[in-house]
Amino acid sequence: MATKRSSQGGATDNGQPAKKKGFWALGLLDSMKDPALQHFTDDKIVVIKDKYPKARHHFLVCPRLKINNLKALKPEHLPLLNHMHEVGKRIIKESIGEEELKYQLGYHAIPSMSHLHLHAISRDFDSPCLKNKKHWNSFTTDYFVDSMELIAELEENGCVDTSGRNGEELLKQPLRCHVCKSQFANMPKLKGHIVKHIKK
Ligand code: AMP
Ligand code: ZN
Repeated sequence: MATKRSSQGGATDNGQPAKKKGFWALGLLDSMKDPALQHFTDDKIVVIKDKYPKARHHFLVCPRLKINNLKALKPEHLPLLNHMHEVGKRIIKESIGEEELKYQLGYHAIPSMSHLHLHAISRDFDSPCLKNKKHWNSFTTDYFVDSMELIAELEENGCVDTSGRNGEELLKQPLRCHVCKSQFANMPKLKGHIVKHIKK
């Protein structure tokens, strides 16, 4: 069922923004209220555990302020985005400890879920929920918009425009290891390879 797959992934099934999102796309708003998923809260943000984590450590930093998506961002949101970045960084670092591959902080260029959310994710990508090429490429290609780059773009241009990134093409890119760039024919081969880069 397309709607179910979409809610678990970093991208809709065809790699395009869902024209009409279903009820599942609002699931983050419910999860933000769920004590079982809440990891940290303050007056500005709620940090939840991703329900379908794509790595050993995967958090979503969500503003309390209703911001639908990247297009809705305005310069007045810069302090909030910086706060989301700083808290996301602290939480993912605390969670990872001393693991070698570290973490990345950023946004999907074409998110599947409504309500702005910053991914704070460890770079092991070692999770049974990371199943397919779209999942992989949504975190390891330019589909993943680095948080600091997004903040810089908003500072410089007064808005964020990800339309220059061809989401569909990026999600179809060949499977490449994010560490050594070796190319693999399928996910099992890639997953078998990346464990070599992960400190146990
Ligand atoms: P994206 O919208 O592409 O930036 O990614 C949405 C993220 O939300 C994915 O990593 C999903 O695993 C995650 N997700 C989907 N539904 C929920 C939910 N109800 N609660 C928490 N996380 C979710
Ligand atoms: Zn490699």
